[in-house]
Amino acid sequence: KTKWTRWSMGWARRTGYSDVPQSELELDELYREIILDHYKSPRHHAPLAQAHVVAEGYNPVCGDEVEMQLNFAGDTLTDIGVIGRGCAISQASGSMMSELVRGKDIAEIRHLSDEFKQMMTEPDGTAPEDLGDLEALQGVAKFAARVKCATLAWHTLADGIAQHEKGDGVVRREES
Ligand code: ZN
Repeated sequence: KTKWTRWSMGWARRTGYSDVPQSELELDELYREIILDHYKSPRHHAPLAQAHVVAEGYNPVCGDEVEMQLNFAGDTLTDIGVIGRGCAISQASGSMMSELVRGKDIAEIRHLSDEFKQMMTEPDGTAPEDLGDLEALQGVAKFAARVKCATLAWHTLADGIAQHEKGDGVVRREES
């Protein structure tokens, strides 16, 4: 199912996306467009008026940062704000994830997280159908060095959920 094409930097010059690192251009064209759309117009990017839980994640390998603001009603994630900076893959992953998990309960979110992490560790696997735009990131599994960019938001969300289950607060993570 995965289509795979090598792209040259010529594409970046033609389209003006020269700010995007080369490795992110080595993805299927349709998937690359989805990733760049989320990168340039991130969803749920605004801070929440009042956040129950704030979780921060940092990926020192790439310099990606993500701050996740979360509100819960019982086991349901009622609202999410994802603020960050870093490479297109890390920021697009957070944006795609925010669309997918908002309004879902913790058990559903854990299931989706497991599916996403499995997709990121099996380069030749088929993307699960319920991951929405995150399917666009399946090609990243072929770049071991970039998998942490794609999973940072999910690890940070898991920290936030764990914090919610312990009691409200702030939690920070640094990938190693
Ligand atoms: Zn990155």
